[in-house]
Order: sequence, then C-alpha cells, then structure tokens
Amino acid sequence: MLSRTSKLGCYSWSLQAVDKCPASRGDDGELVEVCKGCYATQGFYHMPDAIALRERNDVEWRQDTWVDDMVKSLRKQTFFRWFDSGDMYTEALAWKIHAVCAATPWCKHWLPTRMHKFTKFSRVIDALNDLDNVVVRFSSDNVGQHIDGLYVSLVVDTYKHVDKTHVCPSSLQGGKCLDCRACWSKDTQSVAYVAHSNKMHKIIRMKVEPMPGFDHNPLDNFPTIWSKT
Ligand code: SF4
Repeated sequence: MLSRTSKLGCYSWSLQAVDKCPASRGDDGELVEVCKGCYATQGFYHMPDAIALRERNDVEWRQDTWVDDMVKSLRKQTFFRWFDSGDMYTEALAWKIHAVCAATPWCKHWLPTRMHKFTKFSRVIDALNDLDNVVVRFSSDNVGQHIDGLYVSLVVDTYKHVDKTHVCPSSLQGGKCLDCRACWSKDTQSVAYVAHSNKMHKIIRMKVEPMPGFDHNPLDNFPTIWSKT
C-alpha cells in the first residue's frame, strides 16, 4: 500500500523504521549515529494508522500478486520513492522491487538504503542501478561522513557548500522538493541533507565541544544559522 509524501510530492512504499532496517545497527548492536536521529521514529510515524500501513506492507510484499499490484499502482506515477521508512531488508524483497522497477520504465525510482553494508546485496543493487529508471543511493552512518558508491547521500550539520555534493534545498523552500529531483538523478552522485529534526540536532550538539572562552555550544542556535546562510 502506497503512502503520499508531501515533501516529495510523490508516493512511497515503506516498512517500519529500525525494525526493518538491519543495517541501522553497528557491530556493537547500537544504532548508528544518523539512525539515532531518524525522523521515521518520531511524531506522525507513531500514529496507529502509520504503523498499521507499514505492518500491512510487510505482509503484502510476500504475496504472489504483489509485483503486479505495485505495477498497477504506479501506472500513472512518474516519480516514486522506496522506503520513506524501513529498508529492503531481505534479498527476496529486493529482487521483487527490481521486478517492479523493470516493469515500470515510465516511472523514476529512488531507493535510499544501508543494505550496501552487506555484500550479499551487491548483485541486486547493481542490477537495480543498471536500470535506466532507478537510483539506489547509499546512505552513510555518521553526520558529515562521505562514503564511496555510485550514488550516495549523507546528513550534514550546516547548510553550507559541500564539494561535489548537491545540498538538498528543501530546508529553504518550506520543507518541499518543489522542482528539485536530484535524488532520482543519475547525474547526481552525492546528495547532502541538512539535519532538521530536534532529535538529530541534539545528537549533533552532543558531538560539538564548546569553543574555548564560550560556555555554550555554538550550535545552540543551529536552526537560525543554517536557515540564513
Ligand atoms: S535533494 Fe531535491 S529531490 Fe532530494 S530530497 Fe532534497 S529537494 Fe527533494
């Protein structure tokens, strides 16, 4: 079942955050830094309807008719986002997603993931990225961390120029993508998202030591800083 993402202005298909994100935890079992501030573990995502939709999706994708049903759902869509929350947590699901993408060449698919950390997913990720209408974008685990990959993304702490990286403009345009479609573009290798949730701001503040001579954290007025520069 699809959900509408108002920021993107397109539909998405999602699973429960963290529960269906095996790569959200490091070797020590702790959530990686960026996942500690995940927007999909806050607010609206705790609503019973949002939880029920994601649980239903986790049942439906296993059914034989799911690929055909998804193709029918996408027949009028030109842009689609996989995993507003959750991740393609099994190879079986990933190959079914590949079948949906291959059967919907009129629609551009963006799929952010951390499953690239498991080498057994390399084959299906490569097969997805071989499709003209698909961008599988590898997410990095830590704020400001650049990783290797055909298409990548990272979270940054300030709205500033990042070399060879498209900085997401949504923070400066009412939280909307508007006509930006960089995340879907094979011409955009790297996208940086400015941290915006209170939870992520708290994590970033914890990392920053007060400057010598100051008794406060320079990021205390963080939203003001990044919205003006
Ligand atoms: S980079 Fe562009 S397409 Fe991607 S989330 Fe930001 S505004 Fe939307």
